[in-house]
Amino acid sequence: MNIQNFINGKYINPINDNWINNYNPSNGEIYGQTPNSSKEDLENAYISANSAFKQWSQTTLEDRSRILIKISELLEANLQRFAEAESKDNGKPISLAKSVDIPRAASNFRFFGNAITQFASESHESVGQQAINYTLRQPIGVVGCISPWNLPLYLFTWKIAPAIAAGNCIVAKPSEITPMTAFLLGEICNEAGLPKGVLNIVHGLGNTTGQAIIEHPNIKAISFTGGTETGAHIAKVAAPMFKKLSLELGGKNPNIIFADCDYDNMLETTVRSSFANQGQICLCGSRIFVEKNIYKKFKSDFVEKVKQLKVGHPSKEDTNIGALVSKPHLEKVMSYINVAKKEDGTILCGGNKVTVKNYENGYYLEPTVIEVKTDECRINQEEIFGPVVTIMPFNTEDDVLEMANKVKYGLSATLWTNNLKRTMRMSNQLQAGIVWVNTWMLRDLRTPFGGIKASGVGREGGFEALRFFTEAKNVCIKY
Ligand code: NDP
Repeated sequence: MNIQNFINGKYINPINDNWINNYNPSNGEIYGQTPNSSKEDLENAYISANSAFKQWSQTTLEDRSRILIKISELLEANLQRFAEAESKDNGKPISLAKSVDIPRAASNFRFFGNAITQFASESHESVGQQAINYTLRQPIGVVGCISPWNLPLYLFTWKIAPAIAAGNCIVAKPSEITPMTAFLLGEICNEAGLPKGVLNIVHGLGNTTGQAIIEHPNIKAISFTGGTETGAHIAKVAAPMFKKLSLELGGKNPNIIFADCDYDNMLETTVRSSFANQGQICLCGSRIFVEKNIYKKFKSDFVEKVKQLKVGHPSKEDTNIGALVSKPHLEKVMSYINVAKKEDGTILCGGNKVTVKNYENGYYLEPTVIEVKTDECRINQEEIFGPVVTIMPFNTEDDVLEMANKVKYGLSATLWTNNLKRTMRMSNQLQAGIVWVNTWMLRDLRTPFGGIKASGVGREGGFEALRFFTEAKNVCIKY
């Protein structure tokens, strides 16, 4: 099936007729083509967004809210179709697409449809000066949204829902590796009555289409989720044009387990936080640190549970681990397993490609647990972004805190303990944008979401996202 750009409410082919193959990770076959859009396509998308802006920015909050909620309802009504498309495009188990990706995309629209009606700005009476100040929160204009392949519709809509809610018009690019659900979203937006031009979707490679978005002088803000290197490149291009930037980047998150935790809950959640979505979630806890006195037990219980995970075709309901997203990504992840061997890491389980019957060319890999001798080795420092975790013991709270913080990233951290004082001490000192205690990936969409250090700049979620997608203007009236 061929994918087309969605510009001014219509599906169209790229001007230069340039296409990229779209692969099905479950069998390694090409199953469609995606536009590799040029600067000209991007310019058309920009013109469409810019022409829609005046009217959309004046649309009442109730009308915006109604349309966003309608999009959410239509996504829910089309859950099965979208989940199948996501699973086929990305390789993730259909059960995950049905229970997480698509419901969450629908929630993003519903949440921001509601949030915009509650988004108030401040006013300050300047007492004694007979003046009142108030703040306008005005939409920026045309904004660019660029998203990655791991949670395709989930992260795409996490950006476009608040941008639209705040009154902006958008030029968006999903990852060219997983363009399908963003493509399908266009028709849902039309059906929900989103005026044409408010959302424009251009498909293509990062260094052509993505580059054209970040270089465009009149696209005033960029919301990007993806790798740290790409984020640094975007910052460099955007800075001289003073674009507003939100960068959600990579992670190498610690999962810290103390002996006083609720063990069974921890064990079950740790399997999930290590391998959900084939470990391709920026929030996965890929560095597991376990207090020494329960290390041996944990190691044996964890490995036993991981061995039970079923690697299989994504469309099978009982599959726990589907296919990795692409051949180059599978090769990259496997190259880290070789690095681990060279670094004297012990592979406790996994480490090999899996051949799934009838889908021999799919990109399957066993969930892999590696015991490391030091936290400073490469596989403990670099983002692998696949079904590979490291484990090692620790002695004291100070030791583990130091190791947890000794990476360039700072996205999330998970802490397992029932000691309240330790919880407070550790959460205060962990260098991360999000700390989960006795849980993982429990999300409340009102909370600020983002990372520190090389994991990004800025926060998404709740009013933070609405603040990002608006400019604050102070009006001061003397009376
Ligand atoms: P990339 O950085 O490779 O790509 C992200 C998006 O940026 C894609 O749409 C990509 O297009 C595009 N892009 C690439 N080069 C440019 C460019 N020069 N200008 C503009 N856009 C460009 O990341 P991945 O897609 O590989 O995603 C995985 C990464 O995303 C991991 O590092 C992961 O940690 C991070 N991530 C972070 C999250 C967070 O919230 N902090 C959440 C999820 C993932 P193309 O696909 O063509 O390369």
